[in-house]
Amino acid sequence: MRTTAKRSFVVFLLVFAVVGGLALLGVRFAVNGEKWATLRANEHLTEDGSFIAAGNITDRNGEVLAYTEDNERVYNDSERIRRSTLHIVGDTEGYISSGVQTAYKTKLTGYNPVTGIYSLKKYGRGNDVSLTIDSQVSALAYDELDGKKGIVAAYNYETGELLCSVSSPNYDIEDKPSAEEIDENKDGKYDGIYLNRLIDGLYTPGSTFKIITTASAVENIPDISSFTYKCTGEEEIDGVKVTCPNVHGKMDFDECFANSCNCAYAVLSQKLGKEKLELTASEFGFGKSFSFGKGETAASKFDLSEATEADIAWASVGQYTTLVNPYHMLTVLGAVANDGEAVLPYAVSSVTTPSGRVVEKATTTSEIYITPEVSNTVKEMMRNNVETNYGDYKFEGLSMCGKTGTAEVSEDEKPHSWFMGFSTNPNCPVAIVVVVENGGWGSSKALPIASEVMEAIYKSLS
Ligand SMILES: [Zn+2]
Repeated sequence: MRTTAKRSFVVFLLVFAVVGGLALLGVRFAVNGEKWATLRANEHLTEDGSFIAAGNITDRNGEVLAYTEDNERVYNDSERIRRSTLHIVGDTEGYISSGVQTAYKTKLTGYNPVTGIYSLKKYGRGNDVSLTIDSQVSALAYDELDGKKGIVAAYNYETGELLCSVSSPNYDIEDKPSAEEIDENKDGKYDGIYLNRLIDGLYTPGSTFKIITTASAVENIPDISSFTYKCTGEEEIDGVKVTCPNVHGKMDFDECFANSCNCAYAVLSQKLGKEKLELTASEFGFGKSFSFGKGETAASKFDLSEATEADIAWASVGQYTTLVNPYHMLTVLGAVANDGEAVLPYAVSSVTTPSGRVVEKATTTSEIYITPEVSNTVKEMMRNNVETNYGDYKFEGLSMCGKTGTAEVSEDEKPHSWFMGFSTNPNCPVAIVVVVENGGWGSSKALPIASEVMEAIYKSLS
């Protein structure tokens, strides 16, 4: 009996070792299989870093942005489209880490963790990826940026489809700058060239942050609708002067927001205090990253832990150490537009095999930021800004809500020019964020770009 028991134990050990070994191999294969198969050395999929049989990438209207011909990756005929969609489509070398050609590399090249390169062998090509982007609108946004650094991004705040995301500077993928040119970075032409500013960007928000401070005031100050303030052009907080570019005079709460009165917001920030402001910012998703492709967005920052009373006043108007990420700002607009529910933007609508089978389809995901009551009050105030201040004629037919920003970044540089807004026309549920780096006034640079791009989107959706 003892011998049998001993034998059984040995057999058990052997079986355990084999099963364990297989399991380990399985785990390693699942973890590393994609990496092994897509190594540059694996010439079934790639050659010199280029994809030899990757599928097509198309925009929302079926316009082909990238395809493979004679083992070469080929891009859209139009340089405007190539440049304006560069950071979303990405490159084959993986420098643009948030690009679809990097995040969806295995799918595009036809690799499957179960069947390996079976599909590639059978069909001679990988899967196709359909994007939510409108390449014509993107090309227009590229023209409008006119070589300035910045970001123009718009999305459908009901579905999450990213319609436009143009990050500048960019380059022509059919005429890539050399590594030396990029290293030399003459005139700052290639500053952060591989970064998609929508995903990786962090900017001082300036007065666009008043959207958050306004929401905090609506949440926390019971009689806020009867708030009035008389602006003399400056307000002293704890011995430090907070100033407005001009004297705004006597205003109600709506007018304080429409005139973007720093002095009135300085007073409101003292009423709110740092805890309430920080709480509202965190409700709105500050401090957190969002998934995009296979990566994550840079997290917006609002930290008053070391702030003096005067710092809190400057933070409430989007200065101090506050930094925001443009993707996150799209979600903030989405929440204000959508009863407090922020639908999260995405760029890939589906992945289809060469045989026409859809293997991945986007689904709408969202997060609740604020209550419908708070969001609707802020929405009405943003609507009032466009009606009484910027002018509805700039956004014909869109019943637009908006807020400009002019964000001071340093003593010797022009401020960043901002516009954040959304249409309340049910046929065009679209929010837009425009940042022109060192572009000056929000109303003179970013707003006109938003106006042109929103008009183009409205036309394309109707
Ligand atoms: Zn003022």
